[in-house]
Amino acid sequence: MSHKAGFVNIVGNPNVGKSTLMNAMVGEKLSIITSKAQTTRHRIMGIVNHEDYQIVYSDTPGVLKPAYKLQETMLRAANSALADADLLLYITDVYEKPEKNEDFLNKIKASEVPVVLVINKIDMIDQEKLEVVFEQWKDLLPSATIFPASALHNFNLDLILKRILELLPESPPYFDKEQLTDKPMRFFASEIIREKILLYYQKEVPYSTHVVIEEYRESSDPIFIRGIIYVARDSQKGIIIGNKGAAIKKLGTEARRSIEAFLDAKVYLELMVKVDKDWRDRDSELRQFGYEV
Ligand code: GDP
Ligand code: MG
Repeated sequence: MSHKAGFVNIVGNPNVGKSTLMNAMVGEKLSIITSKAQTTRHRIMGIVNHEDYQIVYSDTPGVLKPAYKLQETMLRAANSALADADLLLYITDVYEKPEKNEDFLNKIKASEVPVVLVINKIDMIDQEKLEVVFEQWKDLLPSATIFPASALHNFNLDLILKRILELLPESPPYFDKEQLTDKPMRFFASEIIREKILLYYQKEVPYSTHVVIEEYRESSDPIFIRGIIYVARDSQKGIIIGNKGAAIKKLGTEARRSIEAFLDAKVYLELMVKVDKDWRDRDSELRQFGYEV
C-alpha cells in the first residue's frame, strides 16, 4: 500500500473540544503534544505515525474573528491554518449557534481545502435536537463531511479517522518516524531552533547549518536544553554569532520563547556554534553527535 501523509488543522471556537479531540485522536500513538493548548498562541502539534500513514494534527488556538479580540498573531496563526492544511477538521459543538461562525465559514468556502466538520459533545443532547443542528450545518457547509461525535467519550472518532485517511494525499512522511518515537521533545526543540535560523539569517547560511540537541534535562527547573549549531565554515560561525554575540542572543531568545510556548514550561536554552566542514556527508559522525539518523 502506498503511504499517506499530511497536515490536519483543527479549527473552531474556544471550548468546543478541539484539544480533547486532538488528544483522543493522537491517543496512545502520541508523539508529541502539549497540555494547555488554550494558554499558548502557537499552534500545537500532535503526530500520529502508522506504517502506512503519518497525520500531523495541529490545534489552532481560537478562531478567526476580531470580535473575539484575538491578538493579531493569533489571528494570523488561525488564518494560516487554512493556508497550509491538507484538510481542515472543523470542530463545533451542540451548543454553538452555527450562524456565529459566518465569517469563518466564508473563508473556508473560498479555500480549496477539504473540510471534515465535527459536531462535538453529542452526549449532551438528544437525537431529535441533534438532527436539527446537523441539518443547520449541512445547509451552511454542504461540501463538508459532517460527523456528530463525542471527543470525551470516544464516540465516532474511528469514523473521523477513516475519513481523514481517505482525504489525505499520498506522500512520504514529513517527520522522521524513528526520531519521533525516540526522543520527540529533542526533535521538536531542534526543529524550532532550525525554524528560527531560517527566519533570522540570510541566504545559504541556514542551509549549511545543522542543529543537534546535546542535552535535554526535563528534571531540572527550568527545563535545561543545550543545542549545538553546526556550520560548515568559520565565516558562517561568525555570522550565526553576530557582532558581540548579538545575533545568537536574539536567536536564542526567540527560540527559547517558542520552545516555552510549545512545552508550556520555562526553559533555559544554551546555544553553541561549532564548525564541522563535512557534516552533510558523515552520517556516522552525526550519530556520534547524538543526532538520531
Ligand atoms: P478547546 O478550547 O476547543 O480546545 O476545548 P477543550 O478540548 O479544552 O474542551 C473544552 C471543554 O469541553 C472541556 O471541559 C472538555 O472536557 C469538554 N468537552 C470536550 N469534548 C466533550 C464531549 O464530547 N462531551 C462533553 N460533554 N464535553 C466535552
Ligand atoms: Mg484547546
